[in-house]
Amino acid sequence: MEKDCIFCKIIDKELPSDFIYENDRLVVFRDINPHAPVHILIVPKKHIRSINDLTEEDNEIVSELISVAKDMAKQESVSESGYKLFFNVERGGGQVIFHLHLHLIGGWKR
Ligand code: AMP
Ligand code: ZN
Repeated sequence: MEKDCIFCKIIDKELPSDFIYENDRLVVFRDINPHAPVHILIVPKKHIRSINDLTEEDNEIVSELISVAKDMAKQESVSESGYKLFFNVERGGGQVIFHLHLHLIGGWKR
């Protein structure tokens, strides 16, 4: 666990959050400031600062983030209507929490 990392504290249940799913390697919770009707974050338990810090040994977890995102989209009923998956990378890319996380947003009326 990284000192002063909000997401590490959420993962360790030191801070509350709206948990949706958890396994040994990752957690999924609702974004506190949603930008869409459905806005969830898929977060590895391992503290990795950003996409820039990934190494080959992280390939499996990155793959799992995406496959869990697919399952969460189905569970949140946005699979058919469609959704976006994205990583913000470093400050210029809009990243404000420096613990890797995959955003899933969707659920807009069309
Ligand atoms: P990013 O800009 O990619 O670093 O995204 C960080 C996201 O984390 C933002 O969408 C925030 O609304 C969200 N966030 C910040 N603090 C919390 C929290 N305590 N619980 C849930 N989501 C959070
Ligand atoms: Zn962290």
